[in-house]
Amino acid sequence: RTVTGFHNEPDTDPALAANRAWGREILRRSVNSTLGEGAIAAARIETAAQLDEVFAAASAAAEKWAALPAADRAAVLHRAGAELAARRGQLIEIMAHEAGKTIAEADPEISEAIDFANYYAERALDLEKITGAEFVPSKVTVVTPPWNFPVAIPAGGVLAALASGSAAVIKPAKLTQRCGAVMVEALWAAGVPRDLLVLVDLASRDLGTQLVSSPVVDRVILTGAYETAQLFRSFRADLPLLAETSGKNAIIVTPSADLDLAAADVARSAFGHAGQKCSAASLAILVGSVADSKRFERQLVDAVTSMRVGVPSDPATQMGPIIEPANGKLLKALTTLDRGERWLVEPKKLDEEGRQWTPGVKTGVAPGSTTHMTEFFGPVLGVMRAKDLDEAIRLQNAVDYGLTAGIHSLDSDEVATWLDRVEAGNLYVNRGITGAIVQRQPFGGWKRSAVGAGAKAGGPNYLLGLGEWQPAELPA
Ligand code: GLU
Repeated sequence: RTVTGFHNEPDTDPALAANRAWGREILRRSVNSTLGEGAIAAARIETAAQLDEVFAAASAAAEKWAALPAADRAAVLHRAGAELAARRGQLIEIMAHEAGKTIAEADPEISEAIDFANYYAERALDLEKITGAEFVPSKVTVVTPPWNFPVAIPAGGVLAALASGSAAVIKPAKLTQRCGAVMVEALWAAGVPRDLLVLVDLASRDLGTQLVSSPVVDRVILTGAYETAQLFRSFRADLPLLAETSGKNAIIVTPSADLDLAAADVARSAFGHAGQKCSAASLAILVGSVADSKRFERQLVDAVTSMRVGVPSDPATQMGPIIEPANGKLLKALTTLDRGERWLVEPKKLDEEGRQWTPGVKTGVAPGSTTHMTEFFGPVLGVMRAKDLDEAIRLQNAVDYGLTAGIHSLDSDEVATWLDRVEAGNLYVNRGITGAIVQRQPFGGWKRSAVGAGAKAGGPNYLLGLGEWQPAELPA
C-alpha cells in the first residue's frame, strides 16, 4: 500500500534562537490566556431540548456533507490542517495555561493534530474506493476526549468523524475546554460548517447522559478511563463505542540492553507530562543481573533527579504540574509504600495546592501489588525484578490493560520472543513507549485498554469503524 501525499508535520526546532524567542513569548502570554473563552460561553447547553436541537441540526448538516464528493471533504480537512498549523502558538498557549503542558510536550501535540487532518483527508478518499461494498457514514458522532492530550485527541476524533462523512458533536473535558474550543475554531475557520461541527458545554450530568445515550447518536468516540466506557455502556447497552481506555504499561530491561539508553527512555516515558498519559511507562521490569547489579537503578536515579521540575510558563521546565491537586489513589501512590517497597527517588510536594510534585520511583514492587496492577496517571514509577525474560513477560502481561509496552534488549532472539508473547497494542523496542506518530505508529490497545469496536487511531482502517459497510451482495 502506498500513501500518496501524506507527510508528518515537523515539530518546532528549539535549536533555532528565533523559535526559542517565539516559545518564550507564548509561555509569557499563557499565564493570563483568555483564548477560547468566547467559544465556550457560546457552547453552553442548558436543557435537553437544546441538545436535541443540536443533534437535529447536526444530522441535517451531515446529510449534505456526506453527499459531497470525498475530494471536497478532503480539501476542507487539508485546510483544517493549515488552520491548525497557523494557530500552533495559540494552541500551545492555551495548553500551557489549562493543562500545565510544557512547550516540549505541547508542540508535538499540535503536529499530531495537523497529521490527523492531513492523514484522514487521504483516508476519506479511500472510502470511495472500497470495492464490492458501500460505506454508509454515521450522521451524528459524539466525541468525548480527555484532558491529557487536550488538542490532539479531540482533533483526531472530530477529524476522523468529518472525514468519514459524519457530523461531530464534541464535548471537551471540563478541565481543558478552551483547548478544545481553540482547536474547533481552527476547523470552523477552515470552512467546516458550524452545525456540522458543534462544540458543547453541558450544564448538568443529565445532559452528559443524554449526550451519549440519545438514540440519534450513531457513534461515540471516547478516550478516557475504562470505568468511563463502562459507565457509557450502562446508559445505553447497544451504544456503538470506539473507546481507547486506560493503560498500565511496562518497559522490560534485559541484561543485553544498552543500559544508558534504557534508563533515559524509562525516565522520559514515565515522567513526560508528569506521567499523565495512557501510554506512559509506570513500571520498569528489570531482568536478572540488571536488577542485581544496581547499575541500572543508579542510572535511572540520575536520569530522574536531573529532570527540571517547575511551572509550564518557564521554558526550562521539563516536568510541569499535574492537572489537579493529587488525590485518591495517586496521592496514596505518591506518599506511601506497599509491603517490600522502598523509594529510589522519593517524591516531594513543592506547592501548597498539591499540583507540583517531583518525580517518584519506588523499587521492590511485588507481583500482584497495587503498584503493579493499578493505573495512577501521575509521576510515579514502580520498579520490579524478574529472574528471566519469561517471568518479565508474565509480569508485564499480568495487568488488566494492554496499551503500550516496551523492551530494551540488544538480543534479537529475546526481542522475537517478546514480540510474540506481549499483550499490548503498541510495542516499542529500544526506545520510549509514548508519542505514537500518525501513520507510522497507529495507536490503540487491547484487553481493558480498548472498549467497543474500532481499528487503531491514525491508522489506515480507523474510518471504517465510523460507518456501516456491507458487501453489496455475497460473492457467487
Ligand atoms: N497517543 C499518545 C501517545 O502515544 C497517548 C494518548 C493517551 O494518553 O491517551 O503518547
